[in-house]
Amino acid sequence: MEKIQRVSYTNLERNFQEVERPLTNQEAREESNRCLYCYDAPCIKACPTGIDIPTFIKKIASGNMLGSAKTIMSANPVGASCARVCPTEELCEGACVLNHSTKPIMIGMLQRHSTDWAIKNEQTLFEPGTTNGKSVAIVGGGPAGLSAARELARLGYEVTIFEAADKAGGLNTYGIVSFRLPQSISYWEVEQVERLNVTIKTNTRVGKDVSVEDLLKGFDCIVLAAGMAHVPHLGIEGEELEGVYDAIEFVKSTKSGSLTKDFVGKRAVVIGAGNTAIDGATCSVRLGAENVKILYRRSEEEMTAYDFEYEFAKQDGVEFRWLTAPKRIIGNEHGKVTGIECIKMNLGDAGQDGRRRPIPIEGSEYVLPVDAVIKAIGQTRHLELIEQFGLQHDDGVVQVNKETYQTSNPNIYACGDVVFGKGKGDAMVVTAAQQGKLAAYSIHRQFTTVSTGR
Ligand SMILES: Cc1cc2nc3c(=O)[nH]c(=O)nc-3n(C[C@H](O)[C@H](O)[C@H](O)COP(=O)(O)OP(=O)(O)OC[C@H]3O[C@@H](n4cnc5c(N)ncnc54)[C@H](O)[C@@H]3O)c2cc1C
Ligand code: SF4
Repeated sequence: MEKIQRVSYTNLERNFQEVERPLTNQEAREESNRCLYCYDAPCIKACPTGIDIPTFIKKIASGNMLGSAKTIMSANPVGASCARVCPTEELCEGACVLNHSTKPIMIGMLQRHSTDWAIKNEQTLFEPGTTNGKSVAIVGGGPAGLSAARELARLGYEVTIFEAADKAGGLNTYGIVSFRLPQSISYWEVEQVERLNVTIKTNTRVGKDVSVEDLLKGFDCIVLAAGMAHVPHLGIEGEELEGVYDAIEFVKSTKSGSLTKDFVGKRAVVIGAGNTAIDGATCSVRLGAENVKILYRRSEEEMTAYDFEYEFAKQDGVEFRWLTAPKRIIGNEHGKVTGIECIKMNLGDAGQDGRRRPIPIEGSEYVLPVDAVIKAIGQTRHLELIEQFGLQHDDGVVQVNKETYQTSNPNIYACGDVVFGKGKGDAMVVTAAQQGKLAAYSIHRQFTTVSTGR
């Protein structure tokens, strides 16, 4: 991995370019020839979307790049993004039989090699199905919504995605840092879906620009794939000060528009230790911050970021302060952040979610001088929207049948982060994509069963 250059005003743009170098054709061929093409391959089982990994690898080895890209993308409509953001060491590569002898096949990098080929060669990979006269509205054009849309369009449905943002792609477009996932990759996946005659209405927030009633009346079925919302408040003094950021909005600002120079030479702290925290911290470094610390109220063992993200942050020079919670953000007379009061924690017994609860150590408070505070303690839910649809939910987590993704309203399906349960596993792009596919197949079953009277 390329070490970033300490930032100057002139190389900010460079710091946000993709870090990982792609494989050359020769490296890809050599790597694909190492694959054993296992019978009953464990790597396939470990992929949430069930990509036929040995087949796509074999196609690289034989030079059939279009076939290889199609194998990947047919199983995973956001397979180009997943090649870059999946925790492969915990999924396919973690299951590769070669872990027992040498080293696992670089499945993620090979997947990137194939999909990059399709992108460079401007391939259209799939065709829409024959129209079946049914219409589906999809709320949210992130990985889950795009995946559902792609499969429904291939099955002949007339699909409209309503997307609140300027562009579709969800967190792939706006949330995951560009030095891991450039926007161009996400746009290509969106374009592949649009080429199947899927209509994407951007800048259209359901519940505001278009009503829930209109959707319920105007479409045969609805897929709710709105993801999660903004970072919650810390609930401490000083959150309104200038220099306090919501990590998701912060990362988004680095992916859209020009890069701010406000961080050059500054000290930043990030609160939290999940995906979003790592992205907030590494963005700060790449924007030129002199010192970036992650504060986490639990210990290293409990952090939810993936190992590869942790390593990435350490390589970028991010420091970690474990068992440390923010108590108060301090500002100057101009309302700007100047420091943060922290308190040390101990870990108590496990709570309901199975994780040990942090307990403050009285009298351990201390002040860290800082210029920016980035809040990254998870995401809130689209409670209002979910209630407008009248769906059963558990504190904002939409309740679905875990096989069909049908909600408490039989004409509404939900998938992706909107159904992701708190503290249970990791919210991942690949899971959202798979759930989108499964929701699409359930809808098709619902309509074909009804229309044939079976
Ligand atoms: C900073 C960050 C880094 C991450 N890094 C990784 C990673 O490295 N690897 C990984 O696998 N996962 C990662 N994740 C998790 C992953 O991005 C999500 O699990 C995934 O994007 C969920 O897909 P989704 O389609 O359910 O939701 P989203 O991607 O959030 O998409 C939802 C879409 O719905 C739209 N929407 C919301 N409300 C409305 C409305 N009312 N009307 C219309 N549209 C609406 C939104 O604008 C958005 O486009 C990361 C998440 C974050 C926040
Ligand atoms: S487990 Fe490893 S060696 Fe076997 S098919 Fe999968 S990638 Fe190839």
